[in-house]
Amino acid sequence: MTDKDSRYRFLLEKANVRGVLVHLDQTWKEARSRAEYPANVQQVLGHAMAAIPLLASTIKFTGKLTLQARGDGPVSLLVVQANAGGGQRGLAQWREDPPSAPLSAVFGNTSLSIQIESGRGEVYQGVVEVVGDGLQDALANYFEHSEQLPTRFWLYCDDHCAAGMLLQQLPQESRTQDSDEDDWLRVGMMADTINGNELYERSPEELLSRVFSEDDVRLYDREPVRFECNCSRERTAGLIEGLGREEAVDIIEQEGQIEIICEFCNSKNVFDSIDVEAIFRGGDQSTTIH
Ligand SMILES: [Zn+2]
Repeated sequence: MTDKDSRYRFLLEKANVRGVLVHLDQTWKEARSRAEYPANVQQVLGHAMAAIPLLASTIKFTGKLTLQARGDGPVSLLVVQANAGGGQRGLAQWREDPPSAPLSAVFGNTSLSIQIESGRGEVYQGVVEVVGDGLQDALANYFEHSEQLPTRFWLYCDDHCAAGMLLQQLPQESRTQDSDEDDWLRVGMMADTINGNELYERSPEELLSRVFSEDDVRLYDREPVRFECNCSRERTAGLIEGLGREEAVDIIEQEGQIEIICEFCNSKNVFDSIDVEAIFRGGDQSTTIH
């Protein structure tokens, strides 16, 4: 983790617009190093990795936030997930490298889902239609329909970094100044002047004072973000339990062991016949780790 792996919230007070900036350095390098991603698969994964901490900043939750797409297009699976502590992970699977746009040519005939696990056992699920050129358009469309809050996204990634920005109109009850629709359009047009790597290269202070010089910018403290996977031996054992005893024993007989590699972080868990017996006995896993 470096200082570059950061999220910054800010407020454009005059325009009654809240914003969030995200820079991913090591977090992105770790995610993209897990597979030999073709260029445009990598691009949609990078955009999603930059988007998830932006989304997380708009919701109160203590559990997990997941953005997922499973489709019949060139990208068959995209999953990005964030927890409330700034940890995030993500992966994509593909049939072939898609065109870079539109988004429907990337995922095919499907929709994306947003799932929020509140941390208190409640699960909320939203549907993001696959519209527009990229994830930024689909997410803006989602907010317009589900939250009725005008929201825009700017997403960027290359081989070394990913970055994103969100702007969102404050709800009426949170506004402290007079502003109108023109202010919203104006800050959006100013944000459109940011080129991709400027979003990443410039410090938040520099970037915001260049782009929103007319607005009173209030920048909040840096929040760290990082690549973090919540896989564990215990969870993996749960997967084996889900297979059922018969199938698990079958694999052991054929392969000698069950090897499960986490696709998010590449960590490997190996279970032998004694481990498998212990799982179905409901035994304590910790006593059988070799
Ligand atoms: Zn993992």
